[in-house]
Amino acid sequence: MKATNPLAVGDYVHFEIQADGTGIITELLDRKNYIIRKSTNLSKQVHIIASNIDQCIVVAGMLMPETPLEFIDRILVTAEIYKIPAVIIFNKSDLFTPELLEYTREIEAEYIKIGYNCIETSAKTGHNLDKVATLLKDKVSLLSGNSGVGKSTLINSIDSNLNLKTGKISDAHLTGKHTTTFAEMFFLEQGGAIIDTPGLRGFGVVDLNAEDLSGNFPEFFNKSENCQYNNCTHTHEPKCAIKNAVDSGDIAWWRYRSYVSMLEGDTKHRLDDYE
Ligand code: GDP
Ligand code: ZN
Repeated sequence: MKATNPLAVGDYVHFEIQADGTGIITELLDRKNYIIRKSTNLSKQVHIIASNIDQCIVVAGMLMPETPLEFIDRILVTAEIYKIPAVIIFNKSDLFTPELLEYTREIEAEYIKIGYNCIETSAKTGHNLDKVATLLKDKVSLLSGNSGVGKSTLINSIDSNLNLKTGKISDAHLTGKHTTTFAEMFFLEQGGAIIDTPGLRGFGVVDLNAEDLSGNFPEFFNKSENCQYNNCTHTHEPKCAIKNAVDSGDIAWWRYRSYVSMLEGDTKHRLDDYE
């Protein structure tokens, strides 16, 4: 794999201090994982957005703005592909009406069933911010979510020094090429770091075949063994275990909708549209 950038946010390196006080990187240590964006030209090069990520924090909004569930699912599938555990935060809980709270709980129940932890928060009232602080402690967390859901407010309420801190590292873009996406890392006072990528283009963009795609919907994974055809795309085929599970309510219909939308390469809910 040829990368356009030799170093990415999150990399661990060895370096030597020179006589003039500057440092020279002598070795790049192995990356536990990394997320990439394919470069837009045809050179087959990739841009490494960030590396060594412990978890992906998906901040979602139920209103003002509402995050489409397809959008959340796209991030979750991408996180599955990269084998990064994901947690969903439903922020602005102070704005929830009883009806909206009930709906949110239904959505959460499905995600929890699949294995994604969910937290309802309000950066405004401080509701459950202690849980978020615990979640972030000593971990490298990738922050994602459409703009306006409260990512910055949330993180700043957890660490009020954050804006003042100078321990802010920018991506090493020495060539000046492909600089549309860059990530920043913010170190938390309490331990841990946040990787924020303002233009998270690419993270939610995955073009996968049916097998790869359903393999990354955890609740589909085992069931698809019971489909009549082992190359079942879970769309038009008869005796499809996935469609049966949707009919019986075992698999949430809206998760299935996300699957079909991604399978069809529907670009409607790609991250790019929400930046
Ligand atoms: P980001 O684009 O995801 O970083 O979102 P911001 O942090 O910039 O927040 C967008 C707007 O939502 C700002 O006006 C915030 O004051 C507001 N906001 C953030 N969190 C909350 C919350 O929990 N409740 C309410 N009512 N507003 C919030
Ligand atoms: Zn099937």
